[in-house]
Amino acid sequence: MEEKKKTIEVKNLKKYFPLKNGKVVRAVDGVDLEIYEGETLGLVGESGSGKSTIAYMVVGMYKATDGSIIYRGEDLTARGMKRTKEQKGNIQIVFQDPSSALNPRRKVKKSIEFTLKLHGGIEGKELEEKAEDLLEMVGLPREFGENYPRSIGGGERQLASVARAMAADPSLLILDEPTSALDVSVQAKVIRKLIELQKERNLSYLFITHDLSLMRNIADRVAILYLGKVCELAPAADFFEKPLHPYTQMLLSSIPVATDEEEMMRPEKVISKGEIPSPVNVPPGCAFHMRCPVKMDICSKELPEMMEVSGGHYVCCHKYCQAERADTAQN
Ligand code: SF4
Repeated sequence: MEEKKKTIEVKNLKKYFPLKNGKVVRAVDGVDLEIYEGETLGLVGESGSGKSTIAYMVVGMYKATDGSIIYRGEDLTARGMKRTKEQKGNIQIVFQDPSSALNPRRKVKKSIEFTLKLHGGIEGKELEEKAEDLLEMVGLPREFGENYPRSIGGGERQLASVARAMAADPSLLILDEPTSALDVSVQAKVIRKLIELQKERNLSYLFITHDLSLMRNIADRVAILYLGKVCELAPAADFFEKPLHPYTQMLLSSIPVATDEEEMMRPEKVISKGEIPSPVNVPPGCAFHMRCPVKMDICSKELPEMMEVSGGHYVCCHKYCQAERADTAQN
């Protein structure tokens, strides 16, 4: 079997923000993740879990406090290394708010041309044609670029910002809540286009959202983030059918389902308890212990280790570490 190629790998990635009072916000605290060619990794977490901070480090907007970001075997965080234009082009980001990517004072086409000039080094008529090709590639009419961002709909604006990102010819697109500001029907159209684009270009996606139901439609694997750490990582099918971490079970319990059949299929309900603590005062042991309905004595004292429970399904919880220890002792 042909080995899957990694587009990006992050190892022990950390981002700490020091505060004036001497305390530290541990926004991302030792994350390991990888994304393969043509794959979508869904990154899910509540607000404040560190998902956007990971995105900003991967794209180069934030410097990592520690750890490494490896793009196709090349360490982008190597000491003193500033990213080259090519390295910047390889990883692009699409934000929730497209105005971060499309200049409101420029016609849509001009924003795309700006990125094309920067990364592709083309000029004149060729530039204009390439910008129109990119609009067409995301499902917008070629003449659409004559509009200003404020005069077009939210879904079209988001597709235009995908076209802008594609102007740099990336292999990895970070999609940071790209559809959360859109109506459901528009959201579906944008997601369909993103899936189509991925298939055509073998793109890798890091899809960030707090909306788990969206993950069913787009992710190949899903990672759950809690207070700056990954607590579960699994292939999407396993993730929805056999969630293991109590926090994942809690999140899945809160998704509305459309049919009785889906309700029957749903894993046992775990009731949501409390709020996510502040990343300035991360609780000792398992960071989720204050909200966990099945916590044990060890949970507030020791940090659980990430372990692989079945093919590609990882969980970080003492429940499974203890089960593993009991199995080992018996054998
Ligand atoms: Fe709950 Fe303990 Fe597992 Fe944390 S380690 S999720 S507190 S059982």
